[in-house]
Amino acid sequence: MSKPHILHVVPYPKEEETSLEARFTLHRLYEVDNKAAFYKEYGATIRGISTRASAGVTRETIESLPKLEIISVYGVGYDKVDLEAAKARNIIVTNTPDVLTGDVADLAVGMLLMLSRRMSQAEQWVHSGNWVNTVSFPLSRRVHGKRIGILGLGRIGDAIAERLSGFEMQIAYTSRQPKETAAPDWEFVSEVVALAEQSDVLIVALASTPETQHLVNAEVIEALGPNGLLVNISRSSNVDETALLNALESGALAGAALDVFEGEPNINPRFLALENVLVQPHIGSATTETRQAMMSLVLANLEQYFEQGEALTPVY
Ligand code: NAP
Repeated sequence: MSKPHILHVVPYPKEEETSLEARFTLHRLYEVDNKAAFYKEYGATIRGISTRASAGVTRETIESLPKLEIISVYGVGYDKVDLEAAKARNIIVTNTPDVLTGDVADLAVGMLLMLSRRMSQAEQWVHSGNWVNTVSFPLSRRVHGKRIGILGLGRIGDAIAERLSGFEMQIAYTSRQPKETAAPDWEFVSEVVALAEQSDVLIVALASTPETQHLVNAEVIEALGPNGLLVNISRSSNVDETALLNALESGALAGAALDVFEGEPNINPRFLALENVLVQPHIGSATTETRQAMMSLVLANLEQYFEQGEALTPVY
């Protein structure tokens, strides 16, 4: 039986592409110079798309593939897939939830520890020989026992809260409605500004949708205040970066730890000039174990769909 044809939008790590290629006929869009000619020749043979959360799929691509049935996203975010265009044609969209939750939560906690305890600066300080020549490294901020506000108690937000409970933190959160939480004392706060006001640290774990765009705005940042810290491991669109940079530069906010940025990897250079910012290159799910699990799920979604007509983790 011939292998189903798949449009592969952006590269995966080499060993992961091998497993995809064993099962499907891959057309690598990123190697195509003349897209119009490519779609004319192969467009009607392609039944599936494999892509990454960071690349998504455009309306133009969807509309160029008349036989498209399924889009399999490597990543949990599908905000870069044109859902309207996909839904209009009943095209299934799948992502890789759950398998990456623990890694992203680990990173959020690690970033909070690094930012608060200034571990990155402390290491630089040792490397540059200052330990020998100076009395001691400047004091940093305590982590345990602080008041945490989690914006979006979904899969990842919940895993972050579970981890931070082990640091004797007071946990409050906002979602669209109160949740059955792992511990009875996690407090639901419906208003984002009120959550920021009562928190020492605000952690953003929201989905990225038109409704969550800039949910963390100047007012929220002001409410978090000059002793407050912001951690964002979700998507840059959830935070107003200009307001954030202004607050970090003026001291209206104590610090931020960020894994996601507008226009990444070309991030705003103002971030790099700041001592009170910890930057990470969007590595929330970037461990060998998780990336293998994500790839298995991308494959399983495509295989199960082509064999049984149903995907494992459709997003709608
Ligand atoms: P999820 O389970 O869908 O959780 C999303 C949360 O956002 C839920 O708590 C949801 O509230 C909340 N939310 C959605 N719309 C909202 C609105 N209009 N107002 C207030 N809250 C709203 O997603 P997840 O798997 O935890 O992923 C969370 C985020 O992490 C996503 O943005 C994803 O793209 C990002 N992510 C980042 C990395 C990385 O490498 N840094 C890796 C993976 C994922 P309800 O509970 O009320 O529905």
